[in-house]
Amino acid sequence: MNEFDLIAQYFTRSTPSVDLGIGDDAALVTVTPGHQLAISVDMLVAGRHFFADADPERLGHKCLAVNLSDMAAMGAKPTWFTLSLALPAMDEAWLAAFSRGMFALADQFGVELIGGDTTRGPLSISIQIAGEVPKGKALLRSGAQIDDDIWVSGLLGAAAAAVMHRTQRAQLNAETAQRCDLRLDLPQPRVELGLALSELANAALDLSDGLIGDLSHICEQSNCAAEIYFNKIQQAIELKELDSLLALEASLAGGDDYELCFTASEQNRAAILALGKLLNLPLSRVGKIIPRNGLTRLVQVLNEDGQVMDLSFTGFDHFK
Ligand code: ADP
Ligand code: MG
Repeated sequence: MNEFDLIAQYFTRSTPSVDLGIGDDAALVTVTPGHQLAISVDMLVAGRHFFADADPERLGHKCLAVNLSDMAAMGAKPTWFTLSLALPAMDEAWLAAFSRGMFALADQFGVELIGGDTTRGPLSISIQIAGEVPKGKALLRSGAQIDDDIWVSGLLGAAAAAVMHRTQRAQLNAETAQRCDLRLDLPQPRVELGLALSELANAALDLSDGLIGDLSHICEQSNCAAEIYFNKIQQAIELKELDSLLALEASLAGGDDYELCFTASEQNRAAILALGKLLNLPLSRVGKIIPRNGLTRLVQVLNEDGQVMDLSFTGFDHFK
């Protein structure tokens, strides 16, 4: 099988939403009038972002999921994506499973693969995605206002617990470890939430590197600070099996949850809670946007007594 057979067999499907899909030098798309394109790309490298022997079907899901999550965080409706793939060898079983996982998620959200690039090399996967958002309605990191509530979707920390278990920093029961693995390997992008939030939230991002680190990006770009009430954070139940310091780390600084963190005016509390019910997704109000006023830490975590907790970790940094 050569490169072109590979593309035809595993990655070429009908793409009715675009004018021209796979097969020419470029794809052609028409943007809905009155909309902007939100464009994002994410690269996943074996040994860095996933274990080299990762299940290919789950990997196909995850590579697309992290990109869909970026669209969710912008309040954009994902429409199409391209795929760049470096493969160490022609491995049809791997390709079949990878494309199955990727297209299952693509179908769930109605997005189409319209092009890409394929080469031999150390396993790495890069997906570029685009989505549409009504002009001026995108959810930016720079939109947070003083006194905004800070909200988080879902339960935090299970994906980080899976990594702790796999790297033997923590010991989980086999069944718990499996549930955490599902959260790490098969994140569910919060696309519907992001779309609904474009009318309710002032700022948003997705949680890929941990709440503290990610929220500090909102603070930097909105020129504000944040306080988080630790007892309002809904930790994944699996974290009960971790010692309390590791659970703290997993829920505040653990990556890979791909939940959304957003800020919104107090006036929207009831509407946001109703939205959570409608989507059957817990939405927790975990803190408040405050003035920066010479604070040394952009994101402070307060304990039950309202005292600032001393946390040495600040989120994951690939170059630390
Ligand atoms: P070029 O020589 O212009 O780089 P290629 O020969 O690499 O074109 O690709 C041929 C067609 O197949 C193009 O339309 C490209 O977008 C598509 N393509 C290549 N690799 C992939 C892939 N992994 N997934 C989807 N489409 C791909
Ligand atoms: Mg090419």
